Amino acid sequence: MTPSSAKVAVIGLGIMGGPMAANLIKAGYDVVGYNRSPDPIRRLQDAGGHAAGSVAEAVREADVVITMLPDSPDVEAVALGEDGIYANAREGTLHIDASTIRPDIARRLAEAGRDRGVRVVDAPVSGGEPGAVEGTLSIMVGGDAADVEDARPILDAVGRTIVHVGPHGAGQTVKAANQLIVAGNIELVAEAIVFLEAHGVDTDAALQVLAGGLAGSTVLDRKGHAMLARDFTPGFRVELHDKDLGILTAAAREAGVVIPLGALVAQLMASLKAQGDGGLDHSALLTLVERLSGRSSGPPS
Ligand code: NAD
Repeated sequence: MTPSSAKVAVIGLGIMGGPMAANLIKAGYDVVGYNRSPDPIRRLQDAGGHAAGSVAEAVREADVVITMLPDSPDVEAVALGEDGIYANAREGTLHIDASTIRPDIARRLAEAGRDRGVRVVDAPVSGGEPGAVEGTLSIMVGGDAADVEDARPILDAVGRTIVHVGPHGAGQTVKAANQLIVAGNIELVAEAIVFLEAHGVDTDAALQVLAGGLAGSTVLDRKGHAMLARDFTPGFRVELHDKDLGILTAAAREAGVVIPLGALVAQLMASLKAQGDGGLDHSALLTLVERLSGRSSGPPS
């Protein structure tokens, strides 16, 4: 799968898929893209990619198809539909699903792909928009070893830490654990900020020293200052994290595993969405923590 020979179709050119496609173009791949709305397709063309008018057209000549779509039903429709990937791709095409979806759906897609001669791996990512732009994503891959090895050069062009974690669906299970840790971390950073502000502490100075100790985290480094400034431009939308925590709590129940803090933060994320904030960055959990203490949004003036 070398840049000079491989044609890559990318379906879903949003916050993550757009920059991932741009990095594949930079690495020398011939990239064709399709998105439901037109603006992201124009951005792909500006970056040197080709536009397709449908999923079928995008995948027909492709060696590799990457999907980067919001949720399980979106990936199912795009992969399994009449105008979709498996009905139109060539025999032997490799489908890398980088979306975050249910592990059982990832396994179902792998089976459906096998029936149509399409090889499937689940390869959800972590690192957010900056990781997608910088090409430094962490990618957890589930599937057959030979297919994962074939996917590796493509994944190397968009990520830095690429690990084969097990069979089909295992990538999605690891991603669900990732979303548990990230959501819990954001909630605790939010609580710390509200606590510090209530005590009138210099929060810039506080976050600086916290980041250097055991309390330090990528969440603190990447989101702490935007949270202090109440800049909740996504990023990763609350509605997508709510979806992921639904995947997590269902998978935990299925395995008979109790995750008390995960369940609590899932409820808090759901509340934020229910109150109309689904389109904000997930760090907007801070506003909910403020409301719980009867404090209005914003740092003390
Ligand atoms: P997004 O909403 O910005 O992008 C999704 C894109 O898919 C949109 O441009 C939309 O128009 C397009 N789309 C939807 N249905 C389509 C269809 N049927 N055919 C063609 N295009 C279609 O979302 P995103 O933030 O890029 O997230 C994509 C996936 O990556 C999600 O599963 C999310 O959970 C996961 N993810 C996101 C982040 C992040 O920080 N944003 C990080 C890691 C993983």
